[in-house]
Amino acid sequence: MSTQPQPKVTVESVTVCKLCQHGIALTGLSIPIVGEEPAMRAARYVTALEDHIKRRHPRESAAITAMQTWMRDILVIGSYRTEDPVLLAGYELARAHVHAATRKNRLSDDNLVEGLAQAGFTSEEIDRIKPIAQYMRDFLSEQGSFAHPKVQN
Ligand SMILES: [Zn+2]
Repeated sequence: MSTQPQPKVTVESVTVCKLCQHGIALTGLSIPIVGEEPAMRAARYVTALEDHIKRRHPRESAAITAMQTWMRDILVIGSYRTEDPVLLAGYELARAHVHAATRKNRLSDDNLVEGLAQAGFTSEEIDRIKPIAQYMRDFLSEQGSFAHPKVQN
């Protein structure tokens, strides 16, 4: 009979796929390999999550691949000083894709009007201010006339 402590296997958390509600437990993946850095364990876990997406969700998997390409373009082209218009256009397109895909907050026209009303503006003032607020929103968030022509917002 062994008196050595056995590794405690617990399900500390279950990660649930947003697309199909499939749960992926850390069991098996979370058992540390001797000498493995936590970052490497996390990388193994992300790989398992990625494998699920590749197997079950090809469209989302393609989107991940596209994002990887855009990030690569940003990092590689951004590592050079260039005036090559092809590279500069490629950089801008990749940057616009990543920006649109990672934008955290979205402000609709209704949200804008609601916010202005909550700030105490009258409906007449809102009618006057709204185009300026929309212009600022579009400028800051690269939407509308400020969006890259090849990037959906
Ligand atoms: Zn899934």
